[in-house]
Amino acid sequence: MAILVQKFGGTSVANAEKIRRAAKRVIKAVENGYSVVVVASARGQQTDELIADAFELNPNPPKREMDQLLSTGEQQTVSLFAMALDAAGYPAISFTGGQVQMLTDNVHTKARIKSIGAERIKKQLDEGKVVLVAGFQGVDDDGNITTLGRGGSDTTAVALAAAVGAKECEIYTDVDGIYTTDPRIFKEAVKLEQISYDEILEMASLGAGVMHSRSIEFGKKYNVKIHVRSSIEEKEGTIIMHEVPQMEGVAVTGATVQQDMAKIDLVNIDNKPGNAAKVFASLAKAKVVVNDIMQTEVSSKKANLSFLIGISDLTSAKEAAEQMKEEVNCESIFVREDIAEISVVGVGMRTHYGVAERMFGALAKAKVNIDSITTSEIRISCVVNKDQAEEALKVVSVAFELDKAPKERTK
Ligand code: ADP
Ligand code: ASP
Ligand code: MG
Repeated sequence: MAILVQKFGGTSVANAEKIRRAAKRVIKAVENGYSVVVVASARGQQTDELIADAFELNPNPPKREMDQLLSTGEQQTVSLFAMALDAAGYPAISFTGGQVQMLTDNVHTKARIKSIGAERIKKQLDEGKVVLVAGFQGVDDDGNITTLGRGGSDTTAVALAAAVGAKECEIYTDVDGIYTTDPRIFKEAVKLEQISYDEILEMASLGAGVMHSRSIEFGKKYNVKIHVRSSIEEKEGTIIMHEVPQMEGVAVTGATVQQDMAKIDLVNIDNKPGNAAKVFASLAKAKVVVNDIMQTEVSSKKANLSFLIGISDLTSAKEAAEQMKEEVNCESIFVREDIAEISVVGVGMRTHYGVAERMFGALAKAKVNIDSITTSEIRISCVVNKDQAEEALKVVSVAFELDKAPKERTK
């Protein structure tokens, strides 16, 4: 029997009524002949509430204990979900990440999946049960519970879909698909019928919270067809798939804003081989995930080195930078927390010209100053002042006609 993985996000399982509605989706798939694996998130805002509880007792909660605590949210959902299915007459069994050998590294609060033991799940599916797996969690080699980072249940779902050889991984959420940009900020954004792994990977890494970026890496690597769709409406959502030539028809597929970030500038470090390596070795040791890196030569002797990081890594990153200050002969360290990054993404950028001009022109017209710029083959990102971020996203979205479906755009 073909296997289907269905993932339900927090808002889609927020209360008993919503769990019942989600269960109906599962039942429909079972009735259509699928073996179903369900991955669920913590109910509603429960993860935020647990984080608040932790910080009330300790301003710097140990990360291992954080994982131990946060993993309970999804555990509650999957057992309740199994009970709802049982009540409807469909046999179901729920598991924690550890119980299905979701093995991760030991980087608490942002662990990466190393392997998954699919046997236990397959055995239960063969017995005719719906298998429910708690999202966002795993265990390390020593049996400690780990979590995959905020939004990590998407990654559990896609990784499981790969491990069990599922036909498709459905991501049920509170929007009916992936939009050209965050519809909460740019109301005119439109739903995309399809998007390539590369584009949504860039978008997810650059602030599009609709998908956890690691999930896309798994999807691309293991060829998992991902369907992002509404948990309320029946209609088709967005298919994440390998690139097809038509996708290059427009320059820009989507735009994003990344809010919770900081920029660190190491001003006037010695311009000599090995210094950048030293700084980034120190950051890696502190387990800081670095987003964009910019280095510019000031003179033959001096250079400025800047990088962007998530705000949650700021304390560790500052410490790591301070430790390297003398070694690279850095004059001063400058930290900016009042920034955001606006990006445009599209595989069409490879063949269209004038994309940068259009983006910078729109920002200039709205009097948004650009602090720094980084690019890849399929994206352009600008760091701007945080208080102008939403306005910047809107003007850029208008400039690239992100209020229209790709085939309806004029340029
Ligand atoms: P879930 O709890 O189901 O995992 P999330 O809150 O993580 O849901 O993701 C869905 C939200 O992502 C939407 O409500 C939307 O506001 C936001 N979002 C950001 N960028 C996009 C985008 N490009 N397309 C769709 N939704 C987006
Ligand atoms: N519950 C976790 C979070 O809120 C994981 C998830 O929802 O994917 O981040
Ligand atoms: Mg999510």
